[in-house]
Amino acid sequence: MSNIAQLKADNGQYQWHPMAHPAAMKKTRPDIVARGEGCWIWDVDGHKLLDGVGGLWASNLGHSATAVRDAIVAQLDELPFYNTFRGTSHPRAIELSARLVKLMEPDGVASVMFSSGGSDAVETALKLARQYHKLRGEKDRFKFISLRQGYHGVHFGGMSVNGNTNFRRAYEPLLPGCFHIDTPWLYRNPFTDDPLELGEICAELLEREIVFQGPDTVAAFIAEPVQGAGGVIVPPANYWPLVRKICDKHGVLLIADEVVTGFGRTGHLFGTRLWGQGGGIRADLWCLAKGISSGYVPLGATAISSKVAQVFNDDKTGQAAVGHGYTYSAHPVGAAAALATLDEIERLDVPGNAGRVGAVMQARLRKLAQSCSFVGDVRGVGLMLGIEMVQDKALRTPMPRSSDIPARVAKEAYQRGLMVRISGPNLILSPPLVISQTEVDHLCDTLEASFAAVEASL
Ligand code: PLP
Repeated sequence: MSNIAQLKADNGQYQWHPMAHPAAMKKTRPDIVARGEGCWIWDVDGHKLLDGVGGLWASNLGHSATAVRDAIVAQLDELPFYNTFRGTSHPRAIELSARLVKLMEPDGVASVMFSSGGSDAVETALKLARQYHKLRGEKDRFKFISLRQGYHGVHFGGMSVNGNTNFRRAYEPLLPGCFHIDTPWLYRNPFTDDPLELGEICAELLEREIVFQGPDTVAAFIAEPVQGAGGVIVPPANYWPLVRKICDKHGVLLIADEVVTGFGRTGHLFGTRLWGQGGGIRADLWCLAKGISSGYVPLGATAISSKVAQVFNDDKTGQAAVGHGYTYSAHPVGAAAALATLDEIERLDVPGNAGRVGAVMQARLRKLAQSCSFVGDVRGVGLMLGIEMVQDKALRTPMPRSSDIPARVAKEAYQRGLMVRISGPNLILSPPLVISQTEVDHLCDTLEASFAAVEASL
């Protein structure tokens, strides 16, 4: 067996993949990505593809950001690892925390707590939210409310607030006290086609749930500023401002899961800055990962507002020590990668590029909803876009899970040199944020041709 054939065989034999059936992987021909440069990747067979997935919403600077690579190598020479437990620290952790707080000062951020990825950042936020209320003497506030279709990672807390049954069922019973409400999803809701009316109705659903549970039992509401894995669902413009008001009214913390939207993907540095007037919505806790280090080294962070930080800082109960943290919290190599990433985000105006070329991508691909018989909805903002495939367009009948059409579109795209991601009936695009206009044109040309090819074969 050649080396490549061996790799393909061993993949399913020895490795269990996230979100995949282990036995099915033994039969599946894997897409083995062997090399990356700029916004492009090559599989082990030498086939060149435009990376429409951005690694997994992560490779925002593409695959050959020299500045990030150099910072990583320098850090490996200087100090490959040290912990940040209790009184211990290292220079990169300190520099990165100061840098992030400065960056998020307009959002009301006072401090940051590091971890190793998005699920960790969510878990940290959920735990800090409970501790915040305990420190304030509101010991019964332990419940979490979240959105259907939301995705918050795979730890038990995150899984419990996830809004998709597929991510929950096999691991139940989950964390007690987690409740889900309808997401403001314009394409699929039983209420209205008017976005602002939908924003109001769905915000009211949050208030009704808080009141039903008893406001003095609810710790936090957690949501993504734009839902990613759930199919790129963009809420109406009034939703987050209304949610902020409702949370304030009932003393409920607002956690913004910015693991996907953070660091430029929506065309703004943070997704919360998309919403509200005059600089965005101030959450109480933010979950950050992926784009923080452009995926070069795993890193997560939970940003803490001054409102939350003050309660910990001023504590008189003696219970404010944070009994949480990971061996690799603020890993020096991850922190060095993040510092260099932040330099590059600023130098290249990454959010600006995402906004500009993203608008072109959105405008072009939205036309698929008119031109293709099995595309029901195309939605997104900046460089995140979801294409929902349906069985019956007029009736908006969901594409059955058994349908092979989404996979066929992805295969056509792959053969034409574009990597895309399929999640249920949705094709999801999240290319690197440094993608050029020419590359976006190529992406759109390829995808249009792929949909047309599948349509012609039906
Ligand atoms: N939160 C959101 C919004 C995500 O999209 C993800 C991952 O895609 C996570 C949390 C979990 O991040 P990780 O996979 O790094 O644990």
